[in-house]
Amino acid sequence: LPFRHVAIVVFGASGDLAKKMTYPALFSLMANNMLPKDRTHFIGAARSKYKMEDFHKKISSGIKSSDQQVLSKFLEKCPYISLSAYDDGPSYQRLDSEIAKLESQSTGSGKNLRVYYIALPPSVFGDVSENLRKYAWHKEGINRIIVEKPYGKDYQSAKVLSNKLASLFTEEEVFRIDHYLGKDSVKSVLPLRFGANPFLSSTWSREHVQYVTVNFKEAFGAEGRGGYFDEFGIIRDVMQNHLMQWIILAGMERPNSLSVKDIHQAKLKFINDCRPVRPSDVIIGQYTASSKDPNKKAYKDDETVKKDSKASTFATAVLYIDNDRWRDVPFVIRCGKALDETRAELTLHYKTPPDSLFPSESGRTGTTFTIRDHPEKSHVLTATTKKPGRGFTVLNAPLSIDFSNPKYTDSYVPTAYEVLIYDAVRGDHTWFVPREEAEEAWRVWDDAIKNSESRNPLKYEYGSEGPKEEKDLLKQLGVEFETGEGRTVDVAK
Ligand code: NAP
Repeated sequence: LPFRHVAIVVFGASGDLAKKMTYPALFSLMANNMLPKDRTHFIGAARSKYKMEDFHKKISSGIKSSDQQVLSKFLEKCPYISLSAYDDGPSYQRLDSEIAKLESQSTGSGKNLRVYYIALPPSVFGDVSENLRKYAWHKEGINRIIVEKPYGKDYQSAKVLSNKLASLFTEEEVFRIDHYLGKDSVKSVLPLRFGANPFLSSTWSREHVQYVTVNFKEAFGAEGRGGYFDEFGIIRDVMQNHLMQWIILAGMERPNSLSVKDIHQAKLKFINDCRPVRPSDVIIGQYTASSKDPNKKAYKDDETVKKDSKASTFATAVLYIDNDRWRDVPFVIRCGKALDETRAELTLHYKTPPDSLFPSESGRTGTTFTIRDHPEKSHVLTATTKKPGRGFTVLNAPLSIDFSNPKYTDSYVPTAYEVLIYDAVRGDHTWFVPREEAEEAWRVWDDAIKNSESRNPLKYEYGSEGPKEEKDLLKQLGVEFETGEGRTVDVAK
């Protein structure tokens, strides 16, 4: 890296994200020699007051390392600065001179790089960005700001946020992070579709695909994050951003090249083609206590949640894309907390050709292609074939790759945050969300979200499959979330 010194400043270093994700990612980058060891510092900033050893204890608790020496070396690079308030100018001047001191001690050559990672609630984001620009932006060096979700609450507030950022920084300096874009499972859509797989690329359209599902289930509730969740709800938390990014890559047209500009252009074109989700195509739910496990409490029993909360912890929504590739193909997205399992996958459900010699009475011969992120990272294509044995019973057999097999994987696979922070340090915007895309994604969801907030969510029990009423919507659409793996088809010949 051609920098004299690299300063990565974690705002909100006292918080949950910093402990769980940001510092572990920074540690791994350092331990794997991705950053210049002698010229990099990771500066924590927040209002909380810590003795340095307590701060180090806090961030170490999120880091998995068996090598104490490597960890100690990392912690030596992790100073902490307590700010009086997020709108207090002198605090930022102090921060600036601390970084300048580290920069002046560096023996490297090139420009100084400062990367500000904002792991703070959106309420203080305006103050922080203004003060950073005013007091801590390196005048001759390179400065970057990484902006976490939520990127606004709706189209209007996202635009206001964009305008604010544009008034302070150049678009080159802004990195809107969506950690789904750091995931191999999500990025793998590109080589699968646009690599050398004609069996996928030639069937990846309405001609062969009946519907697409995204199934995102968590077996745990909103415990402890209720305050945030209550204000945002699950559509804003995961559907409008993370799952939408997966769908965009799965649905967009072939970019002209893999350049940042071409990829971003293809993504934006796809969002422009998305029809706003109709409120009548959305089911929302909220979990009640488990009848089996007293520890699995209702969402409303969380101390951080209002007793009359209408926040949705479950949603199923149908998205349609008005273009030649996808017209009339439902993209059915489900996400939910406190369900029966944890799972994240995107599946194409293929049509059964009208001239199939093996039509099933239930119509369930259609094969599927699944890109799975959880419980394991895998690709599973199912193919209709003969079940071994007498007769002509047909089976949908999986042809699968499980990436936990070391044969397919480097010895070390970085986390999504690690990948993206490294991209930001290198100045590569490919897997960050550009301004227009971030705003347009809200246009697709605004009406549906606003309408859902005026409704009472359907009830479902902690640990169940979700609200029973979801089945009616799926039945109407002829959609099922199950993939075709191991499905025996009721055809005997
Ligand atoms: P958090 O723990 O609630 O807050 C981070 C820090 O911000 C706190 O330690 C606190 O530091 C400061 N803070 C909290 N509430 C504040 C308030 N009302 N006014 C001013 N400062 C306040 O948040 P987080 O979970 O780390 O998330 C940070 C950001 O990342 C949020 O925008 C969140 O949406 C996003 N995010 C979080 C996760 C996650 O898993 N946690 C995942 C993806 C994105 P001091 O009091 O020390 O100043």
